[in-house]
Amino acid sequence: MNAKKDKFIPEGSKKLLQKELDHMEKPVTVVAVLSDDQNKPFNEFCRKLLEELASLSDKIRPVFVKPDSDLAKKYHVTRTPTILIEPERYAIRLTGAPAGEEARTFLIALLMASTGKTVLSDASKKRLSELKENRNIKVFVSPTCPYCPLQVILAICAAIEREDLISTEIIEIYENKDLATEFNAFSVPETFVDDQPVGTGLQPEEVFVEEVLTAAPVKIKPFEGSGMIEKDLVIIGAGPAGLTAAIYAERSGLHSVVIEKGNIGGQVAITPLVENYPGFTRIGGKTLMDMMAQQAIQYTDIHQGEEVLDLERKGEFIEIRTNRAAYTVKALLIAAGAESRKLDVPGEKEFQGRGVSYCASCDGYFFKDGKKVFVIGGGNTAATEALYLKNIGVNVTVVHRRDKLRAEKFLQDSLAANNIPIIWNSAVHEIRGDKFAKEVVLEDTHNGSRRIVPIDGLFIAIGYVPNNDLAKKLGVKMDEEGYIKVDKAYRTNVPGVYAAGDITGGFKQIVTAVGQGATAASTIFDDLSAPSEKWYS
Ligand code: NAP
Repeated sequence: MNAKKDKFIPEGSKKLLQKELDHMEKPVTVVAVLSDDQNKPFNEFCRKLLEELASLSDKIRPVFVKPDSDLAKKYHVTRTPTILIEPERYAIRLTGAPAGEEARTFLIALLMASTGKTVLSDASKKRLSELKENRNIKVFVSPTCPYCPLQVILAICAAIEREDLISTEIIEIYENKDLATEFNAFSVPETFVDDQPVGTGLQPEEVFVEEVLTAAPVKIKPFEGSGMIEKDLVIIGAGPAGLTAAIYAERSGLHSVVIEKGNIGGQVAITPLVENYPGFTRIGGKTLMDMMAQQAIQYTDIHQGEEVLDLERKGEFIEIRTNRAAYTVKALLIAAGAESRKLDVPGEKEFQGRGVSYCASCDGYFFKDGKKVFVIGGGNTAATEALYLKNIGVNVTVVHRRDKLRAEKFLQDSLAANNIPIIWNSAVHEIRGDKFAKEVVLEDTHNGSRRIVPIDGLFIAIGYVPNNDLAKKLGVKMDEEGYIKVDKAYRTNVPGVYAAGDITGGFKQIVTAVGQGATAASTIFDDLSAPSEKWYS
């Protein structure tokens, strides 16, 4: 075997990595319980990763043991690979290899375990200090899920902050299908506190901390304090439009903040591959958005996990209340994007997260090894998701309601080149199953006949609906599909309120979203410098 090939931390990344590992303070013992027979490639991955990391820092001290060893028995480890981080002090367990998106999380966990310092806010630390009972946190993840790493970091922070009471286990669903099945955790990240499901997806820090305290799901509430933060501009949404607007706004001298309730990067962050953003022939959606976010934070703050819950116009200002703070601003840019459209058929809701998904890069990994999956839709998203699923080894078929795809020619050709079958003129009538989706009832859109087809999973990619609830509260005008109406300069009909990106409808591309964000920021600067009366009407 080629020795060079065996090294999977690329030479170019090692220097950067070493720089980060230089921040380690105390040595961290990492117990890796590995075996040769169970999950072999993942066991090998863990061994190599830990050996290479240990070669970069003498503060990382791997200990390799077998499942029948005394150490494995002492910590009740029966699965391999399992990694325990500084187990004499912390109860942090990775059940499954920290591959893909989780590799970086693993490094952050090592750094935090070494310094004993976490990235939680002071308020969260204070709240966690009030915990009086033991808690066990489980987070189910997959290596390709862009939402998982931040949820995992929250869970690991909790185990470090309350090393006396909190244990955290991160479970990779592909290597541990039986556990995923037992807990019904197929839509990742899926979090459990004391084995109670508390939430799917990435959660705001405050919500997560309350869930740890109460061991139950928690509803997000508006900030109740009195202090108002003054800014020129609040930008709602950290997708391409919002991030670009932030860069342009701050560079022109406006003080702004970007508020993002979910994942930085919006829909693009869950797009497996982007091939039409100039300058990049092929780039992962998450990587592209991480680069944009890195650039934006050179200029402004991005508040992830903060959700705008209420807003109101007050004279020339707009007051905005989130779960964390209250702001008063002269301008508001709504770049809140859009969310996946639902099919609205029986079984869709019931089996969401149990075979029905809207995110191939999050949940596709579970279906590799030839599981039979349908992708519903005929647009660019359906084609991109089908290609991604095929590429990771899923047995994928596209189901479209017409006899022609709407996806661009390049993607249609790729579907054909990859031998991805398409079932034409068919609509999903019903999704059926028991614990998990098992079959779909397809209806012929020409003659109405129905047939039952067994499947393992269903990825729904039938377009988006705009996230327009906040715009509605301000009386912003919308078209019949709910997209915000704007003028050429991205002003809405409400003075001081602007909109950019997918929420304005039309041609939904990254390249148009960044253009709209930049134009909107420039308009805001002009309007705040010399107030305009020309609002969209
Ligand atoms: P889209 O272009 O609106 O296509 C939605 C597809 O779903 C259409 O084929 C539509 O069928 C079908 N559909 C809609 N409602 C349905 C229902 N109830 N039942 C069954 N099928 C239904 O949405 P998209 O593909 O998500 O793309 C959204 C935007 O993002 C587009 O502007 C797209 O160009 C952009 N995007 C671009 C890329 C890229 O450039 N690589 C990648 C992803 C997304 P009909 O065709 O019959 O209407």
